[in-house]
Amino acid sequence: MDILILAVVIALVAVGAISGLVVSSRKKKQLPPTAPPSTPTITAPPAEPQVGEDAAPTAQEPRRTIEEVGLPEAEVAEPAAPPVAEPEAPAAPEIEVPEPTAGRLVRLRARLARSQNSLGKGLLTLLSREHLDEDTWEEIEETLLIADVGVVPTQELVDRLRDRVKVLGTRTPADLRALLKEELLTLVGTDFDRAVKTEGGADTPGVVMVVGVNGTGKTTTTGKLARVLVADGRSVVLGAADTFRAAAADQLQTWGDRVGARTVRGPEGGDPASIAYDAVKEGIAEGADVVLIDTAGRLHTKTGLMDELGKVKRVVEKHGPLDEVLLVLDATTGQNGLTQARVFAEVVDITGIVLTKLDGTAKGGIVVAVQRELGVPVKLIGLGEGADDLAPFEPEAFVDALIGD
Ligand code: GDP
Repeated sequence: MDILILAVVIALVAVGAISGLVVSSRKKKQLPPTAPPSTPTITAPPAEPQVGEDAAPTAQEPRRTIEEVGLPEAEVAEPAAPPVAEPEAPAAPEIEVPEPTAGRLVRLRARLARSQNSLGKGLLTLLSREHLDEDTWEEIEETLLIADVGVVPTQELVDRLRDRVKVLGTRTPADLRALLKEELLTLVGTDFDRAVKTEGGADTPGVVMVVGVNGTGKTTTTGKLARVLVADGRSVVLGAADTFRAAAADQLQTWGDRVGARTVRGPEGGDPASIAYDAVKEGIAEGADVVLIDTAGRLHTKTGLMDELGKVKRVVEKHGPLDEVLLVLDATTGQNGLTQARVFAEVVDITGIVLTKLDGTAKGGIVVAVQRELGVPVKLIGLGEGADDLAPFEPEAFVDALIGD
């Protein structure tokens, strides 16, 4: 009997053990094949808001913007990636068709007019006063000086306006507008050749070197200019000779890729002169129409760097003469911009000026001042950060924008 009981107990224990094994092996199969249990769980520190979380800000920890938190925008815009996303085939780079250049300034005139109110409209209002006394003439002078027209051109304009207003007798608004437009046009200059030269030689492309202090919009302008040329049916090679600023070559290449222009670049911190030389060589080999060379933002206080810019020019000229050396100036920098202009003009022969950021300033008078300073014309103006916000400088459209319709 005891033996029978013992046999039953052994049988029960065996069955229990086998079923336990089966259950635990099933459990194992259900476990996700992830990190071993000893792996520490990483949790976000409580102070950091989670992406997409809408927790109310506390007194200790005010709500922070995306920028402050430092998250890339894309992460926030797409909080949940599809779980079984097929890997996307890399899209072929799309070549954009830039906007035609004709009539660009007319399109952008509103931007100029918005920011130039204090100059043109201010002058008209002052000239329309019933009594043009000394105080009013002083105010006119001040308005011009504030708009960065410069001391000498301001004096010239005020003298001419005084004479002509005297002769005018009764001053109708239309008379005054016409008079002011004429005088401002004279000041800005209508007989400069403002075309950007890109003809090149018989078998060589046109070569344009773009110079200017860091931050003035040099690389952006080079990219925009490539678009202008492509829009006009020219083929372009870009030379990324700004090896001083880390991201400049990438930035330029992005501009180039968008319009199908090849970018010649070298190692970061490499020799800008040899990159510029190679870019022109590539332009010749490709039979390109134009080579645009972006140079480093030479700080005018660093003599060595300025000398290097001269070297870039000399090396490029081994292929043939340059067609243009464009100096990019930020219109909002006033006197500082003029100082820069002077220093650059000593190192390289500037043939044209690009005034950027005219959309953000009421200091359009810098056009007059810088042309006087260098004796070379403003050829292009930047009126925004958009890809096609670079326009050929047309004195009449510019003055119209200053005075307003
Ligand atoms: P670089 O250091 O001289 O090459 O300057 P970048 O080309 O990098 O430009 C500096 C900044 O100025 C960028 O944010 C540009 O988008 C901006 N910028 C350039 N041109 C214009 C312009 O005409 N108007 C405005 N508002 N911004 C501009």
